[in-house]
Amino acid sequence: MKQFLSMLILIFIFSCVQTVIYEPISSIKVDISILASDSLMGREVGTEGEKMAADYIVSRMEAIGLEGKGTDGFLQDYFVKTSDNPHEKAEVGADGDTVGITGYNVLGYLDNPSDQIVVIGAHFDHLGMGGLYSTARVDEIHNGADDNASGTAAILHLAQVIKKLNLQTDFLFFAISGEEQGLWGSNYFTKNPTIDLSKVTYMINMDMVGRLDEERGLAVYGTGTARNWEGLLDEINTDSLKMIRKPSGRGPSDHTSFYLKDIPVLHFFTGQHEDYHKPSDDIEKINLEGIKTVADMIERIVVALDESEKLEFKKTKDEESNTPRFTVTLGVMPDYLFEGEGMLIADVSADKPAMKAGILRGDIVVQMGDSTVADMMGYMRALSSFSAGDQTTVVVERDGEKVEVMVEF
Ligand SMILES: [Zn+2]
Repeated sequence: MKQFLSMLILIFIFSCVQTVIYEPISSIKVDISILASDSLMGREVGTEGEKMAADYIVSRMEAIGLEGKGTDGFLQDYFVKTSDNPHEKAEVGADGDTVGITGYNVLGYLDNPSDQIVVIGAHFDHLGMGGLYSTARVDEIHNGADDNASGTAAILHLAQVIKKLNLQTDFLFFAISGEEQGLWGSNYFTKNPTIDLSKVTYMINMDMVGRLDEERGLAVYGTGTARNWEGLLDEINTDSLKMIRKPSGRGPSDHTSFYLKDIPVLHFFTGQHEDYHKPSDDIEKINLEGIKTVADMIERIVVALDESEKLEFKKTKDEESNTPRFTVTLGVMPDYLFEGEGMLIADVSADKPAMKAGILRGDIVVQMGDSTVADMMGYMRALSSFSAGDQTTVVVERDGEKVEVMVEF
């Protein structure tokens, strides 16, 4: 706590300096250092750490000059009824007389002349001490610098920059709570909006934008949710950054909640890595310049669309509905940005079939049993044909050589 207070004093001095000269990179760095510091204990929804993070974001939004758009100033609290039974779904928006968790969304508004609204969002919660969703399975603070202090710092940076641009469109900067548990905060907000959702022209989400590697590229999802997106992305990509685009508006982050309300979305993501959902996702591995590169791109989008008509929503083919179902797991994390033949492994989980078989991070799965694995979909299809206890050969490419291993599920 003492450490946190001295940090607050530093922030105070910092924000005084910032009002004179704004330095994007140092501002992004300070925001991530605070949000991903041990004193916030991993910002798990329902904990003191998440509330402290929310209060910090409120103070930053106030300093930038945004207007509170929550139900209590900048905050919108919501209650989630939870159960000890893992098969029972948490009920978001239940009233507060039963056992459960209170989370806090943070909403800052920029009121410009037009009545169209652009929502720019990023979740700020993370895994606390690890818990069910930790891939390291250790009881340590998970600071979540990339996931998603990076996106949160990016919305604060964008708020600062967009405020000075004097655009026509209104902006809602939304620091979203409870994403890690299943999109709780964005789900609650879209069902209990504090703005008129019918005026929202599009929503931009950033979840993990702190590891930009120009060679791997930047993932942009939701590109099929409005007719304009594809052409516009070409136009604003002035640095010719490699982009991996996917049309679907559904995905494992908060843009999904807005897509389900028929709002065009774009989701920015710099890719999966070996520190994903581990205590090692910390600030020293963040590419600060990369966050600014992503934010600059978003800035060009909002400027380009400022005077245009409200975007027309397009429903995208639901990729999940034709995803095969599987009952076994290999225990690896795919690299979703990989575009070569096969399925590149970004990480291998401890004590799961892949690790036991000697499969390594960086291996590319090209064959499982009788099935060739050409891509992610091929991998999922192959996996769906196995049951617990089955044994099969898996062929991986390692340093250009084919290696065959025996896997038991
Ligand atoms: Zn995330």
